[in-house]
Amino acid sequence: MLYKVRSAKYENYNIVHRTSNITHRTYLCPSMAEEKSLNFLEEIIENDLSAGRYNQVVTRFPPEPNGYLHMGHAASICLNFGLTKKYGGYTNLRFDDTNPSTEETEYVESIKQDVQWLGFEWKHELYASDYFEELYLFAIKLIRKGYAYVDDSNSETIAAEKGRPTQPGVNSKYRDRSIEENLQLFEEMKAGKYADGERVLRAKIDMAHINMLMRDPVIYRIKHAHHHHTGDAWCIYPMYDFAHGQSDSIEQVTHSICTLEFVPHRELYNWFIEKLDIYPSHQYEFARRNLSYTVMSKRKLLQLVNDKYVDGWDDPRMPSISGMRRRGFTAASIRDFCDRVGIAKRENVADLSLLEYCVREDLNKIASRRMVVFDPLKIVLTNYITENEIVNVEDNPEDVNGGFREVPFGKELYIEREDFMEQPPKKFFRLFLGGMVRLKGAYIIKCDEVIKDESGNIIQLNCSYIPESKSGNDTSNIKVKGTLHWVSIAHAVTAEVKLYDRLFKAEDPSNEEGDFKDYINENSLQIIDKVYAEPALKDAKPGEHYQFLRKGYFTLDKDSTVNNPIFNRTVTLKDTWAKELTKVDIN
Ligand code: ATP
Ligand code: MG
Repeated sequence: MLYKVRSAKYENYNIVHRTSNITHRTYLCPSMAEEKSLNFLEEIIENDLSAGRYNQVVTRFPPEPNGYLHMGHAASICLNFGLTKKYGGYTNLRFDDTNPSTEETEYVESIKQDVQWLGFEWKHELYASDYFEELYLFAIKLIRKGYAYVDDSNSETIAAEKGRPTQPGVNSKYRDRSIEENLQLFEEMKAGKYADGERVLRAKIDMAHINMLMRDPVIYRIKHAHHHHTGDAWCIYPMYDFAHGQSDSIEQVTHSICTLEFVPHRELYNWFIEKLDIYPSHQYEFARRNLSYTVMSKRKLLQLVNDKYVDGWDDPRMPSISGMRRRGFTAASIRDFCDRVGIAKRENVADLSLLEYCVREDLNKIASRRMVVFDPLKIVLTNYITENEIVNVEDNPEDVNGGFREVPFGKELYIEREDFMEQPPKKFFRLFLGGMVRLKGAYIIKCDEVIKDESGNIIQLNCSYIPESKSGNDTSNIKVKGTLHWVSIAHAVTAEVKLYDRLFKAEDPSNEEGDFKDYINENSLQIIDKVYAEPALKDAKPGEHYQFLRKGYFTLDKDSTVNNPIFNRTVTLKDTWAKELTKVDIN
């Protein structure tokens, strides 16, 4: 069930969408950002600052370098960097690289590029693996205080002894080893004396604790693996919970923001800080950002890449930041989207159409206009005799400094095949036999004759043009309702275009029955291998944004060559799915 709520007060358009226990909330009001009240983290920070708890706010963005960043990470980036920008202080980029087997340098580089591209600057580039020595010393400190022990049990025994949420666990038979013995065994673990899994170091907390994570969690394990940053220096690696909070403390992070699944970890986070007596960072949680019609987990996105459903991490259909950049989304529009959606304490799925709305808003202001014909129909202006005429067409009517571009006109032109109809219905404002239209930035033309091949297919229209109707200097007094885009056949350049649709057919593929891949939209890519463009597009460069009149916003793809430029459609001009929204109940 989809509900639409309209609030006259803010002129906003608030779509609240409920499926099972998930709430979607979409704000389409440009002025909402100004009206917005503080989010819960801003409230906490303002209280902390006014109580004098901190001089400055320090946050961190802590990606594990095991994949490319996606839209969910963008939410976390905008939040962490946004808070320190707003309140003064700084944000570190910390690679949470304590797991040697899944991390790669390629990912580190892509993450840095993506954060910068989004428009944020980190204060320090840090690696949790740089703290391996300090973390190791923290572990020794815990052992010395009697808060950690080496356990020789295998992982099955440890799991079995943990008990169940409703049933207390059982103490390991190694739990009461002497401090000296623990120190020696831990030293031997570090020295490489044992094989993977032979021993672990565990915190000594409470095997009957109501929070399962507090039942003597493993804090160090043996892994004889090469690490992308520290090489072969270590064969024991700290577990996430032991590394993360302590890294926050070392960096004196004031507000450590993570997603909701870490709520039960907070108790352990605080336990380590208390027992180690180190800088008291605080953990706060917000709901993961999901986006409709896609998936938002690196593991799932990696499957799409490995199983070749998409053409790499930066496939323009991917919700990865690199994919969205390649598709032509702007950093400003992604920041705007994150700002509008805000942060929540409950699971939610943000509407893809809101993201597209933000993209259109931005591109409408910055994209240069171009004319490109996708499905050509030849027209010949029978009374046109001028040679080498150039018409000036506005580059971007939304931009006061936009200026005009020069477009060569000619006797033979292409228009879009669908812009002509032999038997036009009522209110068809485009071209038909005997009808008149304006060619954008040029003249009014009239269709005089339709030429067909032997099979009855229309192959050419013979038209006449009205010489005194030239745009900008029109003395013809003829009023026409339709304006068509066109290209001069003699001057047209050809290109390939790629049109994209949603990657998944289901709104929340991860929550559907069966495998999320069963819901892939097999029609998410349409390629038109030859379109005809005005010559100015020959000079298009990657990273530039264009509006192809009446077709959508486009950007040059990185696979383009001089002879075969490829344009990705970023987004259509209108929300093609908006019709669906009008079908719903309106409160
Ligand atoms: P994934 O499940 O995709 O691997 P992750 O949480 O394991 O995501 P990390 O690299 O560990 O990815 O995340 C770095 C930061 O980004 C963390 O602080 C994490 O909470 C945040 N983050 C990741 N995914 C989302 C999301 N969907 N919404 C909001 N924040 C996210
Ligand atoms: Mg992770």
